[in-house]
Amino acid sequence: MALEVISDESESIKSSLTRVIQQIDQLEKSCERPSGSVQLLAVSKTKPVTAIEAAYQAGQRLFGENYVQEAVEKRQTLSHLTDVEWHFIGPIQSNKSRLIAENMDWVHTIDREKIARRLSEQRPVTFPPLNVCIQLNISGEESKAGIELSQLNALVELVRQLPNLCLRGLMAIPAPQQSEAQQCAIYEPLAHAFLELSKTDSMIDTLSIGMSGDMPAAIASGSTMVRVGTAIFGARNYL
Ligand SMILES: *Cc1c(COP(=O)(O)O)cnc(C)c1O
Repeated sequence: MALEVISDESESIKSSLTRVIQQIDQLEKSCERPSGSVQLLAVSKTKPVTAIEAAYQAGQRLFGENYVQEAVEKRQTLSHLTDVEWHFIGPIQSNKSRLIAENMDWVHTIDREKIARRLSEQRPVTFPPLNVCIQLNISGEESKAGIELSQLNALVELVRQLPNLCLRGLMAIPAPQQSEAQQCAIYEPLAHAFLELSKTDSMIDTLSIGMSGDMPAAIASGSTMVRVGTAIFGARNYL
């Protein structure tokens, strides 16, 4: 019985993953973007390690988690999976920064100086620098996480001076919009800021936007990494 349940889960994840990858391919084509220019981060928060293993067996290597404890436990349980990249995409409390610095490969949610400094100080020196994106708040009052565009240059300059962080780009989680056109309009200033930033430094190659509900708008707006949970792993029971 249990084995059947697991293999049903695994088949369904495999076919959902294939569908999402095909969608990304098609969107790259329709937006006249190079094939392979949009990476897929599989957001596995709240999902069991068996779900991550199923996606891994189907070829997925980039996984995103939102909760520090959960992320660390999953990484430890799955330490036998080679070449996996673990991305932290949740809000960061400063008392959890050490666990993130010691266990994650990427952090998408840098939104203040204090956290950036702690992550750099706490990153073990024997590890490669922690890849980071700065999170922007692009839809005003509705979402509190992230900095305003006007604060971006100051935080960029600070992060660049931190020895154990490697600035890779920008990230945002916009409030839900009514239409694809509205989603694109919200992304426009961010896409512009990313383009300008990427001209200054060849390491800046990541615009982390797009989730299950807005992949077409995000890819049309220049996303280089979509963060997709529900469309791969199914609905979550909480959060
Ligand atoms: C949960 C989450 C996602 C994935 O959302 P879906 O709608 O399930 O695709 C992406 N990014 C962040 C920051 C998230 O918290």
